[in-house]
Amino acid sequence: MEKADTPLQQVQATIAKASKIARRDPGDVTLVAVSKTHPAEAIAPLLVEGHRHFGENRVQEAQGKWPMLRDVYPAVQLHLIGQLQSNKAEDAVALFDVIHSLDRPSLVTALAKAMDKQDKRVPCFVQVDVGEEDQKGGCPVADLPKLLHLARDADIPVAGLMCLPPFDIEPAPFFAFLDKLARDHELEGRSMGMSGDYETAIKLGATHVRVGTALFGRRPALD
Ligand SMILES: *Cc1c(COP(=O)(O)O)cnc(C)c1O
Repeated sequence: MEKADTPLQQVQATIAKASKIARRDPGDVTLVAVSKTHPAEAIAPLLVEGHRHFGENRVQEAQGKWPMLRDVYPAVQLHLIGQLQSNKAEDAVALFDVIHSLDRPSLVTALAKAMDKQDKRVPCFVQVDVGEEDQKGGCPVADLPKLLHLARDADIPVAGLMCLPPFDIEPAPFFAFLDKLARDHELEGRSMGMSGDYETAIKLGATHVRVGTALFGRRPALD
């Protein structure tokens, strides 16, 4: 009897299909498996299948789960995808390999200080508030040039731009806009697309898609 595809294989196949349509190399799209709220037992099968990029949105939750899993799988790359308070910058720099939520000058200062202290440079995506929704965080579009300048001045490696478009609106125009902003600023990375829209994001240039529900099922509670 043939085994059914795992959720990881299904998402990888969808990434391959969307990349082909967009005439892109599927290897240029990093799948960040968003494991927030899910316990180590839910994460383990993906690790066993060979997946190594994972995303968490809370520093404290990640501190509880990942050091143990990383002992077994040292090649794991941890991505911080949630809003970061400046007072958690040190912990974030210590634990994460990539930060997707750099969005304000005070965080540039806090992260630069933490990186200097730990002698570790963590690549950061600058999160852009493409939908003009204050509550999600993200740098206002008008402030982006200044924030990028500050980050570079502080020796923070800028990996690219990230966005979290408004829910329940067609996301394609926001993805296209982020792609254009990245191009204007000569940045490689575009962190955009979630379970419901990562195919669209890939067609519009995503280099990092952040997929939770399609891999792990629905999250138990509000996050
Ligand atoms: C939770 C989350 C995701 C994943 O969302 P799904 O719809 O479960 O794929 C992606 N990006 C961010 C910033 C998130 O907080």
